[in-house]
Amino acid sequence: MKVAFYTLGCKVNSYETEASIESFFAKGFEIVDFEDFSDIYIINTCMVTNMGERKSKKIIRRPYAINKEAIVIVMGCLSQLKAEEILAIDGVKIVLGTTNRDKILDYLNEYLEFKQILNKVEVLKNDEKFDNLFISDFKGHQRAFLKIQDGCNNFCSYCIIPYTRGRIRSKAKDIVLKEAKQLVESGHIEIVLTGIHTGGYGEDLEDYSFAQLLKDLETVEGLKRVRISSIEITELTDEVIEIIKNSKIIVNHIHIPLQGGNDKILKAMNRKYTTKEYKNFINKLRDNIKDLAVTTDIIVGFPGETDEDFLDAVQFIKEINFQELHVFPFSRRAGTVADKLNGQVNGVIKKARVHDLLELSEQLKKEHIQKQLNRLHLVIPEQMKDGLLQGHTRDYIKVCFKGDESLIGQEIPVMIKYIGENCNLAEMI
Ligand code: SF4
Repeated sequence: MKVAFYTLGCKVNSYETEASIESFFAKGFEIVDFEDFSDIYIINTCMVTNMGERKSKKIIRRPYAINKEAIVIVMGCLSQLKAEEILAIDGVKIVLGTTNRDKILDYLNEYLEFKQILNKVEVLKNDEKFDNLFISDFKGHQRAFLKIQDGCNNFCSYCIIPYTRGRIRSKAKDIVLKEAKQLVESGHIEIVLTGIHTGGYGEDLEDYSFAQLLKDLETVEGLKRVRISSIEITELTDEVIEIIKNSKIIVNHIHIPLQGGNDKILKAMNRKYTTKEYKNFINKLRDNIKDLAVTTDIIVGFPGETDEDFLDAVQFIKEINFQELHVFPFSRRAGTVADKLNGQVNGVIKKARVHDLLELSEQLKKEHIQKQLNRLHLVIPEQMKDGLLQGHTRDYIKVCFKGDESLIGQEIPVMIKYIGENCNLAEMI
């Protein structure tokens, strides 16, 4: 049988789809492109924003137009909360949520035997175990995403994820290390540790922590780089900072969500720090980790955000001097606290503020790269594009340089020479 996959949303979803692809391939299914004719279509959905939800539904409707007999299987955050809505879409035969993705093949066999539409979404009881998913490769990517954690206990007022993913749960250390070894053997010398709340890894484990995991990953032979996909400022403990500082493989780039630009908004978001605490943490990080690049997430147009609040955010962002910003317009999510807050900001204002921050982000990025010109950087080429090798430095600058395709996947010393629009031109040294 032919099976096709489509992933929406975050790195965790990409990891989960990769694990599903491996389990289907191992059972002899032929993996085909999502646009092609297939017998089975599997869609991993997202609902972190209205856009994510709309796009997920659009993708779920596609297979029926290609093959009316197809078995459409839908999983992920959207189906966790909106299973009935999804089951009403033509072609959908099996729906599961954010648990039991390791049982998809069993559910498929059940459907093939009884031809009954299956709703396998489990109501989250906050005692979920970590899904038994495993990957040995990450096809089509040079950097492999390694899911180490699921769920979140934070309940930021704008976020629907704690309701779709449940409480924090961590993958056993031995499985993480075994997976990391396997990925290196498959040619991935860079691994991105990912999770719904990556820095929350270990909070549910006895006698083991995120810091210990970072230390243990140093022992994985051939692993050249470990990137932490995102970590809350509150989880950068002295122990974690010390390990990053002395590590040969953990990169000098950390993505630390800020989300709100002043204390009023941070409080309304139910974030666990003030701007002063955030700034002190960043200063401590920079005092300890050489050439540290910090990127962040920032939400604009949060309910009650005035022009003054926005100007505070711009000012604070400049003070922190991030390398780059990921900017998100506030998206109302039914079921969250922020959905019911007064002072919802209109779309035109939101759009203008997003535009201003994206411009600021470009400026900050260029200033950071300017300081890195003519300095030694190590790059792992990820692909050949427009005749040039393309990859990222340890501090996450995208560079392109002349070189042979055989260098893809290796760590190559370069010097960045020119700042470019899409890619910065470098020379191999
Ligand atoms: S930390 Fe906040 S924003 Fe992140 S997943 Fe948890 S609730 Fe959502």
